[in-house]
Amino acid sequence: MMRNLPSYLGGRWIEGAGARQTLFNPATEEPLAQVSSEGADLTAALDYARRTGGPALRALSFAERGALLKGMAQALQAQRDELLELAIANGGNTRSDAKFDVDGAIFTLTTYAELGAQLGAQRFIIDGEGIQLGRSPRFHGQHVRVPRPGVAVHINAFNFPAWGLAEKAAAALLAGMPVLAKPATSSALVAHRIMEIVVEKKLLPEGALSLLAGAPRDLPALLGAQDVLAFTGSGDTGMKIRALSNIIRHSVRVNVEADSLNAAVLGPDVEPGSDMYELFLKDVLRDVTQKAGQKCTAIRRVLVPAARAATVRDDLVEGLRALRVGNPALDEVRMGPLASGAQLADVREGVGRLAAEGKLAFGGAAPLAAEGVPAGKGFFISPVLAEFPQDAPAVSVHAREVFGPVASLLPYSGGGAQAAAIVARGNGGLVSSVYSDDAKFLEEIVAAIAPHHGRLYLGHPKIEMPPGPGTVLPQLVHGGPGHAGGGEELGGVRALDFYTQRTALQGSRPVIQKLLGIQPT
Ligand code: NAP
Repeated sequence: MMRNLPSYLGGRWIEGAGARQTLFNPATEEPLAQVSSEGADLTAALDYARRTGGPALRALSFAERGALLKGMAQALQAQRDELLELAIANGGNTRSDAKFDVDGAIFTLTTYAELGAQLGAQRFIIDGEGIQLGRSPRFHGQHVRVPRPGVAVHINAFNFPAWGLAEKAAAALLAGMPVLAKPATSSALVAHRIMEIVVEKKLLPEGALSLLAGAPRDLPALLGAQDVLAFTGSGDTGMKIRALSNIIRHSVRVNVEADSLNAAVLGPDVEPGSDMYELFLKDVLRDVTQKAGQKCTAIRRVLVPAARAATVRDDLVEGLRALRVGNPALDEVRMGPLASGAQLADVREGVGRLAAEGKLAFGGAAPLAAEGVPAGKGFFISPVLAEFPQDAPAVSVHAREVFGPVASLLPYSGGGAQAAAIVARGNGGLVSSVYSDDAKFLEEIVAAIAPHHGRLYLGHPKIEMPPGPGTVLPQLVHGGPGHAGGGEELGGVRALDFYTQRTALQGSRPVIQKLLGIQPT
């Protein structure tokens, strides 16, 4: 009999009723589990988190909450092999893709555990310096941040079931807010196993972490003024959530991480064959194919000086041709399938749009005979490189992200202003990267594209073991304006802003300083 995935709500495991959705191995199409969220009392589950998990977390200091995160990181590390196997089976991940997700989760939890230790025993986060407000130094102001007494709902995308859950939960739990996480259904096995580990090992106070397996139903519509909602997924779903009447009426804080047409720009100074050029090629090839391109930070638009476009195209095509696509359970395979049949249909349609506006230099939407799977099985697509002439009026390459192993080559004149104008056509992104050693070019392009991004990656061959632009680090912010959803996550202590209220305290300086445990001045 196939396994049913229960939700963990209100401090217990609950199996949903009614019609079930099936989770598959996307390489073999073998069904792995079934899930339904029908019948679960979501209102009661949110209340339980607010009433039980919230007070328990807020009774702890930052250092103590940090210690809880450390416990989670250690428990995931101890079960790492099992989590990797699940990611390979349910996510279409190669082992390397699976490590990217699971190790990313462990690293992020560890980073926030350390931050908790640094914040120590303080109850309030002190926000900036105290301010003298009147003629007398006695009238004093101090901004502080305090945890919200609601619940943090986290709705995650299918591509990072471990990291997505951990990076959001780390910030909320450290801030003192209980979490109700809803992983994307198609790849939920990894997040579900993490929840089981947390429950089995009693790693968190009761009510601090809940998990809704299956469809979200009306979850966002149940949130109120002290609750927050962090969402990662498509811009369309983000828009629907933002438009809900309770979200508008109660000013519910919503953070959206959506689609992004990230760019990589090769500077005019970079000679083919140089270390900088090789780094650029490596980063582009990795980003297009890692997790079969299903990465919100993947490079989608590759900008190269027109004079170098043919060379770059030939080098990228050579790299893509050498890639082995197939069952990610095989060691020699470098790229697995897309996560679901729906994703495959979506990506094929996107490749069709690019082919209609430009030209395919490599790959296409046709069915792919993948290694190590029964003929005709699996949601596979070949990597795709589309190319466009300089100054092409193409629209879709700048407007619609194709969430698969797909990138487009866009020649520019070689000037920073023109490259920046092309990058800006993406209308807001998570991260773009620039590869150049020309100080003038860098100054021009960085200033021009920074307002359109949450993060800029300046690639340089002298950096040892560079992670590439696609790796989100917990110390730096993740998010971006416009098309990317306008959200911001992570960024060290900045991540706590979303889960806390900034309050300005006004009053007598000694009283405020005593209250906050600040040395009298
Ligand atoms: P999605 O359909 O927006 O789903 C994302 C999450 O939202 C899933 O957990 C989904 O649950 C849930 N959801 C769906 N409809 C909802 C609603 N009305 N209210 C509340 N939650 C809802 O996106 P996707 O299927 O993961 O991917 C589609 C596209 O999103 C991709 O093609 C890509 O362009 C973009 N994407 C962006 C990122 C990023 O990190 N920026 C990551 C992944 C995808 P169910 O799974 O149960 O439906």
